[in-house]
Amino acid sequence: MSLALTDPPHAQAGVKLVRRRSELRAALAGARREGGSIGLVPTMGWLHEGHLSLLRAARAECDLVVMSLFVNPTQFGPGEDLERYPRDEQRDLELAAEAGADLVWAPPLEEVYPDGFSTQVEVGGLGEVLCGDPERRGPAHFRGVATVVAKLFNAVQPDVAWFGQKDAQQVAVIRRMARDLDFPVRIEVLPTVREPDGLAMSSRNAYLEPADRERATALWRALTAVEREARSGELAAALEAGRRELAAAGIEPEYLEARDPEDLTPVGELDGRPVLVAVASRVGGARLIDNILIHDTEGEAPT
Ligand code: AMP
Repeated sequence: MSLALTDPPHAQAGVKLVRRRSELRAALAGARREGGSIGLVPTMGWLHEGHLSLLRAARAECDLVVMSLFVNPTQFGPGEDLERYPRDEQRDLELAAEAGADLVWAPPLEEVYPDGFSTQVEVGGLGEVLCGDPERRGPAHFRGVATVVAKLFNAVQPDVAWFGQKDAQQVAVIRRMARDLDFPVRIEVLPTVREPDGLAMSSRNAYLEPADRERATALWRALTAVEREARSGELAAALEAGRRELAAAGIEPEYLEARDPEDLTPVGELDGRPVLVAVASRVGGARLIDNILIHDTEGEAPT
């Protein structure tokens, strides 16, 4: 019996929905046999322009574009927003089709985590700082991310996988995991897509009441203040300027820190290398993260 669940309107729009790994494999077999390139865009759904930018890039480069759609419970901590995470599969299928996905893999929970599932992928160090600090989301979050992405890579075996700079720590963790575990996949990272007022697009913005939505713009103001002030060369002072922007909006950050973008070690001074400035904060009903990459920090004192 075929479990293929291809039905209108997404089928009309040219996207095929598969749920079982066996169906996924069958759907990919043709492209693989013919030597076509396979691109993967992992998502948890509730698609916005950030996700769509990744899908369009995959479409432009690969012969076959797969989007995974799975709200991964193992990356949510107790008391986090797993139950209320926004979901609308039909809408996601239509948007994915428009952005050029050929195949959406939306596995049921037991397909990803069968009974007795007990293997974890842990990226030591990188997964234990910033959001992975035990005082915050904790290392279990990135264990959940690395484990599910390893499974997605194994199931799809993509040539290229696309991720967003919005989740900079996730990018660092996945790059390291792919390197350490020899996944033959190229990782591509695209810039954060923002609302016109600078707020990074996020499925979690759906939790923001209008007043908090307004306050949330302070995150991007803080990051751009850090970047601006960093031009004068003093990173600690630049971070202070960022904290003042947050405080002015009544926002107490979980962190606002400067880190090496690859190994996430703290950066105390600007020395010409790129610096990741990352922020996380609860704003009303949402926990939001954002970051900015400061490039070319050497010799850029204001004129
Ligand atoms: P999510 O559905 O939140 O797990 O995100 C799926 C992918 O989309 C991840 O690689 C995210 O980094 C990426 N993404 C989320 N928000 C944005 C954004 N505003 N701009 C660019 N990429 C994003």
